Amino acid sequence: MTIATPRPNQDLIRPDKDKFLSEENPFEAMMSRFDYAAQRLSLDPGLYKVLRSPEKQIIVSVPILRDNGETDVYVGYRVLYNTSRGPAKGGIRFDLNVTLDEVKALAAWMTWKCAVVNIPFGGSKGGVVCDPSTMSNPELERVTRRYTSAIIETLGPDSDVPAPDMNTNERVMAWIMDTYSMHKRHTVTAVVTGKPVEMGGSLGRREATGRGCMLVTRQALNRLRMPVHGSRVAVQGFGNVGSVSAMLMEQQGMKILAVSDKSGGIYNSKGLKIKEVIQHVRQHRFLSGYGEAEQITNDQLLTLDCDVLVPAALENVITSHNAADIKARIICEGANGPTTAGADKILEENGVFVIPDILANAGGVTVSYFEWVQDRGGYFWDEETVNQRLERIMVQSFDEVAGMAGRHGINMRIGAYMQAIERVAAVHRLRGMYA
Ligand code: GLU
Repeated sequence: MTIATPRPNQDLIRPDKDKFLSEENPFEAMMSRFDYAAQRLSLDPGLYKVLRSPEKQIIVSVPILRDNGETDVYVGYRVLYNTSRGPAKGGIRFDLNVTLDEVKALAAWMTWKCAVVNIPFGGSKGGVVCDPSTMSNPELERVTRRYTSAIIETLGPDSDVPAPDMNTNERVMAWIMDTYSMHKRHTVTAVVTGKPVEMGGSLGRREATGRGCMLVTRQALNRLRMPVHGSRVAVQGFGNVGSVSAMLMEQQGMKILAVSDKSGGIYNSKGLKIKEVIQHVRQHRFLSGYGEAEQITNDQLLTLDCDVLVPAALENVITSHNAADIKARIICEGANGPTTAGADKILEENGVFVIPDILANAGGVTVSYFEWVQDRGGYFWDEETVNQRLERIMVQSFDEVAGMAGRHGINMRIGAYMQAIERVAAVHRLRGMYA
């Protein structure tokens, strides 16, 4: 079995720490949009209270033996935000900056994301506060297995289904699946998605988030009557989402002017050759040192003169400090929460068309849903079928959100929240309140 080694922190582009801390915390950022969308929907006060509260928050200790014989204890979280529409669904991240507030926000975003693309899942998220770039593979495996066993009561194909997120990958999913299955005494493939294809993963899952970004960007270009061919793109982050988005956009004839990672950015006004860039990163781990380009900083990348900007790395990179300098006409949010609420206002005033995260990066969880369906049915689809079905869902969801935005005279982000809240609220009303 060939599984790529994790590339810890590859797309970690933490902006200047003070700036990051002075703007909103992620849960507040999510809530401020939720509140506005709920108000526009005239959501009834009872449901408003229910949907503002995470259903379950789990905090665990994750002790592991380091290779040098010492013991380290990490903190792990798993938050199930809402499960009214189906099993909780959402990734697990390994990162030093993980906090409970961040995991809560990400779990809420998963709830809205699954509802925006209308797949039958609720939302969850997990994280372990650790620095995987300083850990060996056996240490990573021990953290993964111990964390899995600590949260095992919540996990299951009908209750809570993890997937990869920042600094976790197929191999980590394989360990989760194995740990869960050993406890259950039989193999349960549908307990995680984003697994290796050899053990019940779906074809097309690895590329799905980037493919989704490409599909909604194409829709946005068409809607704004801008040509796809030749449109100029800048991509921040060169992990799974950024690199695949760049590659698929290049295949559509778009010109990828710049990409960046933790080591900085590279720029070529004639367009980068993304296959070569990916090859470079495979060999050298980071973008730095790539030949046929000028070096730029991550901040410069965000404010480049281009048509499409794809922030595909971290939260809170587009803030009230730099939003006014953004020259792109379209922002496609490959990352979760890259834009603060303060920045939204400025972008809207400047006529920037933002494809919000809960729509733009929903391709990943959509193919996770396909993977879960295939595991449960025991029947696997070819890649063309996966990609066709993904395209249908992404295009339809984009059009639904644009329709909602148009009808209410609001931007795409609030349109997406309204679409999502309406769907989740509808199920709550039908199910009633169990007392
Ligand atoms: N971590 C990804 C996200 O934030 C995928 C989640 C999933 O497939 O469950 O959307």
